[in-house]
Amino acid sequence: MLTKEMDALERIQSGFEKFKTEFYDKNPDLIGALKEGQSPPFMVFACADSRVCPSVVLNFQPGEAFTIRNIANMVPAYDKVKYSGVGSAIEYAVIHLKVKNIMVCGHSRCGGIKGLMSLADDGSTSTDFIEDWVKIGFPARNKVKADHASLPFEEQCTKCEKEAVNVSLANLKTYPFVKTAVENNSLKLIGAHYDFVNGVFETWE
Ligand SMILES: [Zn+2]
Repeated sequence: MLTKEMDALERIQSGFEKFKTEFYDKNPDLIGALKEGQSPPFMVFACADSRVCPSVVLNFQPGEAFTIRNIANMVPAYDKVKYSGVGSAIEYAVIHLKVKNIMVCGHSRCGGIKGLMSLADDGSTSTDFIEDWVKIGFPARNKVKADHASLPFEEQCTKCEKEAVNVSLANLKTYPFVKTAVENNSLKLIGAHYDFVNGVFETWE
């Protein structure tokens, strides 16, 4: 961790030194293979939240997970203009890396999901980027508000953390190369939720 006495550059360097001695130098076969290329079995969508790094939580090793992290682990529907950043990553992972699994992983106490659940009914926004982005999950917000109107807001957010994953899984199928790979059984779509309050990790297909 970055302490008061340590500046950011020292923290970065000491972190790499630890990785270099404890992992890089001790796994020459793996590192050697990765020098030639990558063939990760997983593509992972996770939140940018600093508490939910999939490599830490799921012990993914270098070369194992092609990872996209963004606010509230959203996968937007196919849109060449608005979402080329996400689209290019999915295209690369599915067509070139031929990943076997795409996992979308939500998490407890997600600020992005809280923002989504706080959106006005008419979808109007006041932020430059955040609300427009989390609005990808608007169908999840509406479903939770309709099905669980009597629940306290915090519990509605928990429901929405999982519903928004389902919206992203459905959105993945709007990418023609994803749809084809799923139909050919060469690609599996996996939903997941990491609850760091209770220390529970859940998956579904
Ligand atoms: Zn989050």
